[in-house]
Amino acid sequence: MNGVTVIAHPLVRHNLTRLRDKRTQPQEFRRLLGEIASLMIYEATRDFSVKKVSVETPLAAANGFQLAREVVLVPVLRAGLGMLDSILQLIPHARVGFIGLKREETTLRAMFYHKSFPKNLEQFEVLLLDPMLATGGSAVAAMNLLAEQGAKRIRLVNLVAAPEGIRAVQKNHPRVPIFTASVDKKLNERGYILPGLGDAGDRLFGT
Ligand code: URA
Repeated sequence: MNGVTVIAHPLVRHNLTRLRDKRTQPQEFRRLLGEIASLMIYEATRDFSVKKVSVETPLAAANGFQLAREVVLVPVLRAGLGMLDSILQLIPHARVGFIGLKREETTLRAMFYHKSFPKNLEQFEVLLLDPMLATGGSAVAAMNLLAEQGAKRIRLVNLVAAPEGIRAVQKNHPRVPIFTASVDKKLNERGYILPGLGDAGDRLFGT
């Protein structure tokens, strides 16, 4: 699928299967989600631009690289928080923005209850973190908001995607690449992904 990278690394598959298992308790769920997020971030950042720099080793000058742009991680609350800490371990200088979105239960439409970002978003590589891409309503709303704030380089890092959600993102934001660990079968009548893993926020926080 164009624009969608399915990260099928054996460790990602192994951990995702354990995440899906309904017997997995919140403590283990948090650990597994963090591990998958850090494995995925290598792929999601593979083509970040770098610029040449030189440094002095204790012995001589060495040519090297540094990231060309600042990075901002934007977890979609609540479930995106489960991906944040482990990615920050790998990109400790990243800034963190937040988007609070709720699905209105009857219409399944996305509603904002919180937003905060660094200024000058156009200068950043934006990693939007949302484990579940279901109808795509939240992801599209989050991307609309980021684009309104000036973001030019957005990537979606996701764990489980439904085909319906992928179509919605690609229709509204065709230039945003999607990185996922799995494209599942479909949505059920309540907008949950099948087979999915249930409600990611509830499973993370034991609610
Ligand atoms: N959000 C979830 O947490 N799970 C789903 O299956 C769909 C949306």
